[in-house]
Amino acid sequence: MDESEIQELFKRLELKIDAGFTEILDRIDAIERRRGPSPKTKEQLVRTIRDFYGYRCPCCENVDILDNRGSPLATAEYDHWFSKSKNHPHQMWIVCKACNGQLETDEGFKRRSETRFKSFQERRMQQNHPLL
Ligand SMILES: [Zn+2]
Repeated sequence: MDESEIQELFKRLELKIDAGFTEILDRIDAIERRRGPSPKTKEQLVRTIRDFYGYRCPCCENVDILDNRGSPLATAEYDHWFSKSKNHPHQMWIVCKACNGQLETDEGFKRRSETRFKSFQERRMQQNHPLL
């Protein structure tokens, strides 16, 4: 077996492993129980939007997701960043319906949104454990 045959073999193996992992993750997802956020978690996530995002979606920053009294509008959805059973404040955020849909189906979009999710979380933590 020469170098290029070995590389070809590795490439094929890699594809098989990737496909296998995707299948396993899909199955885990089907088994996992969906857990919605508790009222306390919702309150924390909403407060972060109110205080840092001018009532707008932290993912696209284009769509209002809170009304003028600071309560979630029908355009707001709680997104489980990691998986549907992980419902703690550091595992979720609240975004607009369009972003939530795209986060679920578009891996590239999700990857590009990761820094936004992280900065949302930093702001939320700062709010709950002020540095001063
Ligand atoms: Zn959005």
